[in-house]
Amino acid sequence: MIIILKQAVAEDSSEMDQLRAVAARYPDIQLSLHNVPGSLQTISEVYVFGPTRQVPTEAFDELPFVQKAFRVSSNYRIIGRHEGNAPTVGFEYRGLTFSQDNFHLFAGLCAVDTREHVELMLAGLQRAGLKTTRMGAYKPRTSPYDFQGHEAACLPYVFELAGKYGIEVVAMEVTHESHLEEIADALDRAGDPTGVMVQIGTRNTQNFELLKHVGRQTRFPVLFKRGMGITLEESLNACEYVASHGNQRIVFCLRGMKTNLGDPHRNLVDFAHVPVVRRQTRLPVCVDPSHSVGKKVRATDGVLDIQHALAQGVIAGANMAIVDFHPRPGQALCDGPQALLLEELPGFLEDLEICREAYLKRVAAAQRHGVPPAG
Ligand code: PEP
Ligand code: MN
Repeated sequence: MIIILKQAVAEDSSEMDQLRAVAARYPDIQLSLHNVPGSLQTISEVYVFGPTRQVPTEAFDELPFVQKAFRVSSNYRIIGRHEGNAPTVGFEYRGLTFSQDNFHLFAGLCAVDTREHVELMLAGLQRAGLKTTRMGAYKPRTSPYDFQGHEAACLPYVFELAGKYGIEVVAMEVTHESHLEEIADALDRAGDPTGVMVQIGTRNTQNFELLKHVGRQTRFPVLFKRGMGITLEESLNACEYVASHGNQRIVFCLRGMKTNLGDPHRNLVDFAHVPVVRRQTRLPVCVDPSHSVGKKVRATDGVLDIQHALAQGVIAGANMAIVDFHPRPGQALCDGPQALLLEELPGFLEDLEICREAYLKRVAAAQRHGVPPAG
């Protein structure tokens, strides 16, 4: 059971005392307070554990400071929406809002290779008016003989240049808990010129110890990628590990499923799940068309397959996209064949805007035709 309060309260408040007094009427019931910093206001939620079937929701509902108490309908109790009962909150980071109501593009390098390429990339993003990027320093590769990323060595110049070009958030994968400290140290040393959204890659979706570490820290929000070969339900439960260990600033990312049925694309595009994740969770939803499609090929209409895949996600309500670009894809040390050129960014942005506008128009049309938005 979850109790949503009308206003944020502290652990030692009279409201919590009153809730504990109600809980004490039933055997083995425990309460745990979670203050969720939303983009507009902090929301206090109280999780009720134990044999809650014997506890009527009315017992809490009748308290004047309770907005509503409801039973949870899925295992992922913190990230879950519970049939619209749990409000979507979103979060603020580095002056930007991440929520189910807006959209951000994280265009950038799959992997950091040279300082020059980082600088060309970031300067291009600034010219395009973008403040968010992706830059991999720690790369989990299929073969141990492939480039593994420059790791901590590249962080000083990545963060310095991000600050120079007005980038506020860099999405960066971590594959080990020590990477969190390395990133934090490098940011501190550089004077915090930018922010990092730590990425859990598809190969680590069920690395539960890593998820617990990422969840215990709250300095960095998390971009959580769906596992490539497990069910959506399993990925959502894995994502709950992050939330249940304390960090609820999470964006959930779809990136395609590993199966030969997706051939000739690298993965089978799963962006039809955008509305599913929006309905089942309170999290903003990201799509990664680069790792889904895996190659830069053009459809007969002149539009890239990567753009067509992205369009599917955005027109269905995605809130974020991460897309591989590279100033010289031929020299990229990782995933060059799927990288778009910097010169292609303006056309790409125009296409993206068309898709986002189309999504907003579709929602407005549904409302005009009398379909109420759910929760
Ligand atoms: C990436 O985004 O760099 C990446 C490795 O993606 P994924 O974990 O989805 O394969
Ligand atoms: Mn990649």
